[in-house]
Amino acid sequence: MLKVDNINVYYGAIHALKGVSLTVNQGEIVSLIGANGAGKSTLLKTLSGLLKPKNGGIEFLGKSIAGQAAQSIVKQGLIHCPEGRRVFANMSVEENLELGAYLRNDKDIKTDLENVYERFPRLLERRKQQAGTLSGGEQQMLAIGRALMASPELLLLDEPSMGLAPLLVQEIFNIIQEINRTGTTVLLVEQNANQALKIAHRAYVLETGKIVLSGNAAELAASEEVKKAYLGA
Ligand code: ATP
Repeated sequence: MLKVDNINVYYGAIHALKGVSLTVNQGEIVSLIGANGAGKSTLLKTLSGLLKPKNGGIEFLGKSIAGQAAQSIVKQGLIHCPEGRRVFANMSVEENLELGAYLRNDKDIKTDLENVYERFPRLLERRKQQAGTLSGGEQQMLAIGRALMASPELLLLDEPSMGLAPLLVQEIFNIIQEINRTGTTVLLVEQNANQALKIAHRAYVLETGKIVLSGNAAELAASEEVKKAYLGA
């Protein structure tokens, strides 16, 4: 579904992604783990068109999307749920969700809104409330709900568990698995490597802009190298 081939991304003189290649197959959860500053967010931003690779290829559903504008990539079904939630604080919960469907003009928007409310009953309870007044966990659910309103084929999630209480962290990972089970492919960026490897089919480890390990998630979780560096063993 997604094929990234040897991309290089720079911020001015800073070489943030150094020849990164990876694939995501339809139906998978693929986790990308790595320390602060490894380049995880940079990779997601490059996939969704917020940053342009200097070179290399990005193929999504059989078409090259490298260097395309973000709105064109969204229309093709690649949806980015950004780090830090980035909800529109002064708008209501429902307005935030409706904005997720901004580029759509099909007839299923209303059904999708109902589905989001069914998945996140708290959002239904608070649909008229200003998004900025929600708790951190509720804002994360809103950010995911808004991304679902764009009808993703591939959902990019950047640090969805960041800053949440342990119970909520578990809930967010359960929700990600559920979203995947109902047909959405997921590329997940996480600092919480333990949980990210638990729910993933495959995973990649990014270190200072380079993929240094990849493979089956359970195998990676069992490897001494990953245990030592990322699982606090
Ligand atoms: P984090 O979990 O902290 O977000 P990350 O793995 O997502 O880490 P990135 O945010 O992608 O890492 O950053 C990768 C590298 O690029 C870092 O060295 C960072 O300092 C640098 N970088 C990120 N954004 C910018 C920017 N806007 N301008 C210059 N350098 C940047």
